Amino acid sequence: MFTKARLKLTGWYLLIIMVISALFSLGVYRQSTLELDRGLRSQALRLNRSFGGQLSPRMLDTVVIEESRRNIASQLIFINIGIFIFSGFAAYFLAGKTLKPIEFALDEQKRFICDASHELRTPLTAIKTEIEVGLRDKKFDIKQARSLLKSNLEEIDKMQALSNYLLTLNRYDSVNYKINFTRVKLSEIISKALAGTKESANKKGVKISHKGEDAVIMGNSISLTEVVIIFIDNAIKYSHNKNSVTIKTGFDRKNAYISVSDFGIGIKASDIPYIFNRFYRADSSRSKVNIEGYGLGLSIAKSIIDLHHGKIHVESIPNEGSTFTVSLPLKQSTKLV
Ligand code: ADP
Repeated sequence: MFTKARLKLTGWYLLIIMVISALFSLGVYRQSTLELDRGLRSQALRLNRSFGGQLSPRMLDTVVIEESRRNIASQLIFINIGIFIFSGFAAYFLAGKTLKPIEFALDEQKRFICDASHELRTPLTAIKTEIEVGLRDKKFDIKQARSLLKSNLEEIDKMQALSNYLLTLNRYDSVNYKINFTRVKLSEIISKALAGTKESANKKGVKISHKGEDAVIMGNSISLTEVVIIFIDNAIKYSHNKNSVTIKTGFDRKNAYISVSDFGIGIKASDIPYIFNRFYRADSSRSKVNIEGYGLGLSIAKSIIDLHHGKIHVESIPNEGSTFTVSLPLKQSTKLV
């Protein structure tokens, strides 16, 4: 598909270059023949006069001027053939360069659709199998039916969570997405995120503390709260029961900072470059401890922080813990001490 598009684009580039070159050559031909006509005619007349005027002006035109015109025309044709060959290669190269990001984006999208379908198929298969087994069981009673429905509901919850993730990711990644910025206090973001993660922290007995200075930044309060919720949720998820999680806020001359640290399973150095990729899950979270997730939270966090022109920094030691730090530019913002 892309070879065809590349050839088509090369054709268009070449057509534009050749039209410009042909028009330019016509102009050059007209101008230089006019100049030549004038110069050669006066020189020939001078010669004719010194030889006693044996040549008529018509003969002068055909003999001297016609030949010069032919020379100019053939030289311009050669130049245009050269331009055609050189531009052909250059256009093919440039068409390849133009199409590369599109090809990359399409490949990404294909991979994304494939991963999303795979993640949706898993709970769907579980629901289908459970129902089929239930239907085949002749002694299927109300108690079993209840437990089957409960298990189906859990799978449906998972699918709902996945579709919410996908919609959020799509919203933040869409080119036309306009994010509203207002003045937001870091402390506001933290307290909303703490309220949103209270239940899961309590369930696992994880204690979360917050310390540090406050600052006001220009940002979107809802999205930034979403980022901190993702970090805290992960910190809880990948921590051992009854561990603690620390949130720190602060600022320097250029940036405001929010960091979330845990003493959980940590991330291998070789996994860190990939954890912000969609659907990427480190092996430790997939197999060893079997923690649920889709590998989409950090991609959403990154999209949001990119929209805020900020950065995310990760420090982690396997079996010791991780710290995720967001830095947000303090431009147009005020520090609160
Ligand atoms: P999910 O947690 O749903 O798998 P994320 O995108 O939030 O998806 O995280 C991607 C991966 O990064 C996780 O699967 C996990 O391997 C790793 N990760 C993220 N946060 C932590 C953390 N606090 N501790 C250990 N590993 C983490």
